[in-house]
Amino acid sequence: MDQQLQQEGYFGEFGGSFVPPELQEVLSYLSEQFYKFRDDPEFKEELRYYLREYVGRENPLTYAERLTKLWGGPKIYLKREDLNHTGAHKINNAIGQILLAKRMGAKRIIAETGAGQHGVATATACAMFNMECIIYMGAEDTRRQALNVFRMELLGATVVPVHKGQGRLKDAVDEALDDLVRNYKNTFYLLGSAVGPHPFPTMVKHFQAIISEESKLQIMEKEGRLPDAVVACTGGGSNAIGAFAHYIDEPTVRLIGVEPDQAPSLTQGVPSIIHGFKCLVLLDEEGQPKKTYSIAAGLDYPGIGPEHSHLKVTGRAEYATVTNEEVLESFQELSRAEGIIPALESAHAVAYAKKLAPTMGQDQIIIVNLSGRGDKDVEQVYQMLK
Ligand SMILES: *Cc1c(COP(=O)(O)O)cnc(C)c1O
Repeated sequence: MDQQLQQEGYFGEFGGSFVPPELQEVLSYLSEQFYKFRDDPEFKEELRYYLREYVGRENPLTYAERLTKLWGGPKIYLKREDLNHTGAHKINNAIGQILLAKRMGAKRIIAETGAGQHGVATATACAMFNMECIIYMGAEDTRRQALNVFRMELLGATVVPVHKGQGRLKDAVDEALDDLVRNYKNTFYLLGSAVGPHPFPTMVKHFQAIISEESKLQIMEKEGRLPDAVVACTGGGSNAIGAFAHYIDEPTVRLIGVEPDQAPSLTQGVPSIIHGFKCLVLLDEEGQPKKTYSIAAGLDYPGIGPEHSHLKVTGRAEYATVTNEEVLESFQELSRAEGIIPALESAHAVAYAKKLAPTMGQDQIIIVNLSGRGDKDVEQVYQMLK
């Protein structure tokens, strides 16, 4: 990736920052502070410490022996983000951003959440670092995700239901940005995916790149060579960009993002501006961001990170869709074959790897990024299968 382009927050034509001037000032300061601390040896050491002692890194790159046999093709390896504390990759980014917030002297952390997973990761990290935590959540979403609201409150966070607009994620984002502009002197906005205006996509990638930093060393140690393909699910794109990061400059490694066929931002989106940045967006007939629906709440977003948009149009990465039926089948197959119940989001990556396997040779290698564990989804799948 061209360093200059990345520094300005552009990935080809995508990314950037399309926000009101008062917010731009706050983001420019954030950007300056991020670049200042990112390579600071003490900051890096502190981050490494908490990733090891609190998140539980490094996590394994597990050889999925039975899945490999069942599918009859390439060797399948699973990168085990599901084994992190709180059960998914989101904590990598939450810890990274909180450490930056501390360096910047922030006293309050604010975040928005839709299904609640990012809110829980943020509330967890705030409890750990004794920071005040305010989570904005659409009023409608607080009703649908009552258990996650309770989790956040258990962790000491204040959950603020947003009644404005439709009481959904978009309205919660607006409230959070409003809060940030009013309180930027002591407040840090912790964003959960590789989306939003600069510097968020670059920052979130930086903190999630640990996934491929580890997997690359692990596969070299186990197999003595790079994988032939890396497969990850894409919602906003943070686990996928983290899983791809250290392979982007390795042209022999295929990078494949997998989205639900009901929210195919990358396969069917068009360049447009959403939430303050430019990316591939699914639009309806009126040119508005389309209402998407996915059985995996974490993948339910009409846009996608700007770097994925760029990787798609340049052809460096491929993007594919899978159906709900394929996802549910893979959710069960991985559980039975390997004793690992995946998050419904992660089951999208597994489902595509299953389709990819027969097109590859037995001497080849696929790494599937298992972004999270499925405990949170068991009841939903039970209802769907009944
Ligand atoms: C939130 C979430 C995702 C989707 O977010 P990305 O930013 O696209 O990674 C995927 N998997 C799990 C387990 C999640 O919790």
